[in-house]
Amino acid sequence: MDVEGQRSAVVVGGGVGGLAAAVALHRAGWAVAVYERAPALEPIGAGLILWPNAVRALHALGLGDGLRSRAPALSGSGVRRPDGRWLSRTRGDQVISRYGGPQLAIVRADLTQLLASALPPGCLRLNATVTDVDAGGPDRRAAVHCGDRLIAADLVVAADGVNSRIRRALWPAQPPAEYCGYAAWRAMVRTRAVGTGAASETWGRAERFGVVPVGPDQVYVYATANAPARTPRADELSDLRTRFGRWHDPIPALLAAITPGDLLRHDILAVRPSLRRLHRGRVALLGDAAHAMEPNLGQGAGLAIEDAVVLAHAMAGDSAATAGPARYDRARVGRVTRLARQSRLLGRLTQSPSATVAALRDTAVRLVPDRVALRGFDAAAAWRPPVPPAWERP
Ligand SMILES: Cc1cc2nc3c(=O)[nH]c(=O)nc-3n(C[C@H](O)[C@H](O)[C@H](O)COP(=O)(O)OP(=O)(O)OC[C@H]3O[C@@H](n4cnc5c(N)ncnc54)[C@H](O)[C@@H]3O)c2cc1C
Repeated sequence: MDVEGQRSAVVVGGGVGGLAAAVALHRAGWAVAVYERAPALEPIGAGLILWPNAVRALHALGLGDGLRSRAPALSGSGVRRPDGRWLSRTRGDQVISRYGGPQLAIVRADLTQLLASALPPGCLRLNATVTDVDAGGPDRRAAVHCGDRLIAADLVVAADGVNSRIRRALWPAQPPAEYCGYAAWRAMVRTRAVGTGAASETWGRAERFGVVPVGPDQVYVYATANAPARTPRADELSDLRTRFGRWHDPIPALLAAITPGDLLRHDILAVRPSLRRLHRGRVALLGDAAHAMEPNLGQGAGLAIEDAVVLAHAMAGDSAATAGPARYDRARVGRVTRLARQSRLLGRLTQSPSATVAALRDTAVRLVPDRVALRGFDAAAAWRPPVPPAWERP
């Protein structure tokens, strides 16, 4: 402990989840150290959608002002067909009136930098790979191994991502994260071609293309398609241009504007079956380490930030040391399991190769009134932190 009586936490992983946990615990008075294996905080060069629940969680971390300057609100969002017809559309003001806050778009690096800027100097240890963990117990602190050092702490937060080494060590019966049968490509594009501030996702048959404006002059684009695992092609960008080049505007122009080196490809992995417990002793699993899910709801990072807020709250005044992680577990496991299931179901519908499934799906989405469709996001977007952010307090 740095200061007498101050509790200490080790956070493993400096992604969105780990950094958010470090901010939350630091604000709650903990001495925190984040161990990140990478030599620098260089998040993948893509964007993120932050739903109102994620925005609320970031406000609860005191980052509302920083968010305002970095993350423009979407003026709307919706689902289209490859010929451009809209199947469903929601305006930004409908999102605000239903959930009390907007849906934002942000460049990942900006979110990481915002979180890191709220940490005290020296908190972040780079080039630091954690190789093992001891979960500790009611009367024994937890510890992690990093290089030749053993670092003891009152709490270990395992935020080491979808292939979490800590999950493997403490949940040996849990299978490794599973490939979901499709890959995602992502890129940031500098252009004013989209302009309106509205995001869209276009559904074909087992293929999708997303367009998310992040401010007036850059667009986050993503695409998905079914593919065997780990089969990056020599020229992924040409493949994408062939696959989506005849879809509605501005997709061809956006594809033409991607610089080859900026295109990222990732196989979609998920933790399955969902974990029934998110803690062992004094170790709390958080973010993708705990519940990596298919990205179809755009909620993974948002849930990781929620986890961080709830964990810090659950640890408040924890005299029994292991009671806090257990409280966190109880507060989170049902929610993340439900949303993982929902995201998987959406993945089945959108990545189905069947023409019949695609036609039925499109008809159903087209027939549901837009305001009713928005309610479908209630489970995710209507979340509120345990302590309401300042602007919502009476
Ligand atoms: C295509 C796609 C689109 C998505 N879109 C959205 C979206 O719009 N909105 C949204 O909310 N979410 C979205 N997500 C989900 C989101 O990206 C993840 O849920 C989120 O980034 C998880 O953050 P994390 O911190 O838990 O894990 P990670 O970001 O994976 O961070 C883990 C960190 O731990 C480090 N690490 C790993 N092992 C060790 C070790 N042994 N020692 C030290 N450090 C270690 C890694 O280097 C890494 O920095 C999307 C995901 C995908 C794949």
